[in-house]
Amino acid sequence: MRIGAHVSISKGFPSVFDEIKSIGGNCAQIFSHSPRSWRFKDPQNVEEFRERYKKEDIKPIVIHNSYLVNLASMDEELHKKSMENTIKEFETAKSLGIDYVNIHPGSNRDPKIGLRRIIDSLNRIETDVYLLLENTASKIGSKFEDLEYIIENIEIETGITLDTCHAYAAGYDIVNDLDGVIGRIDESIGLKKLKLIHLNDSKFDLGSKRDRHEHIGIGKIGVDGFRKIINHPELRKIPKILETPVDQRRGFKENIEFVKRLIE
Ligand code: MN
Ligand code: MN
Ligand code: ZN
Repeated sequence: MRIGAHVSISKGFPSVFDEIKSIGGNCAQIFSHSPRSWRFKDPQNVEEFRERYKKEDIKPIVIHNSYLVNLASMDEELHKKSMENTIKEFETAKSLGIDYVNIHPGSNRDPKIGLRRIIDSLNRIETDVYLLLENTASKIGSKFEDLEYIIENIEIETGITLDTCHAYAAGYDIVNDLDGVIGRIDESIGLKKLKLIHLNDSKFDLGSKRDRHEHIGIGKIGVDGFRKIINHPELRKIPKILETPVDQRRGFKENIEFVKRLIE
C-alpha cells in the first residue's frame, strides 16, 4: 500500500526522499515554494531529484498548490497572480518529472460564475502534467458534481483527490455509507479518475462544512471509519497522503505506523 505525507522541502527538492523515508512513507506531497507567498524560486537540483525519483521506491510525488491561489476569484489582480502561480506549478512539476499537481478549485460568492471562471482559467493553460482537483469541505468542490463539471469542460488531463476530512465535513458519510459515497464518485466523476486520497480525520461532525483536520482515528471518522477506508477494495490501490499537522500528540511517523496497523 502507498502511504506517505505532506513533507517539507526546506532542504531542497531532493531532500523529500530522505524526509519521507525517515517517517516510513513511500509516496509524498510537497509545496514547490512557501504556500503563503507568491514568490517562486526556480527549482534547484533538478537533475539530482530526477535521478533519485527514478531510483527510489517513493511514488507518486505530488505538488500541492499554494493557499493564496483562487482561480474563481473576481479580483483581477488576485486572479492574474493565481494564473501565473498555477502555470508555475505545472512548469515545476514538469521539470522535476513529478506526476501530479493538486489544486483546490477556488471560491466565488456565486458558485456558478466561480465554476465557469475556473474552467476558463484552466482552459488557458497548456500542460501535459496530470491535474488533480481536490474536493473541499464547503463551497465550490464540496460536491463531486462540481469536480465532474470542471473535468468535463477542460482540456487538461484531470482527475481528483479525495480528502476524507473534507468529504466528511461536506456531508458525505464515509463512516456509515462508504460504499454509497464511492458509488457516487463512480457515477459522477468515475472511479478511474480517483488518483489520490488525502487521509485526514475530521475534528468536526458530518456536514459541518468545517475544514479542520485531526490525527487518524481520533477525530469524527475514527478508527473503524479508517479501517474501512484503508481496506476498501476500490481504495486500497490508491496512494494515501497524510496532511494533518504534526503536534505534541503525534507526528507523521506515528500516524503512518497507526495507518499501517489498520491494514488487513
Ligand atoms: Mn488541499
Ligand atoms: Mn487535502
Ligand atoms: Zn483540509
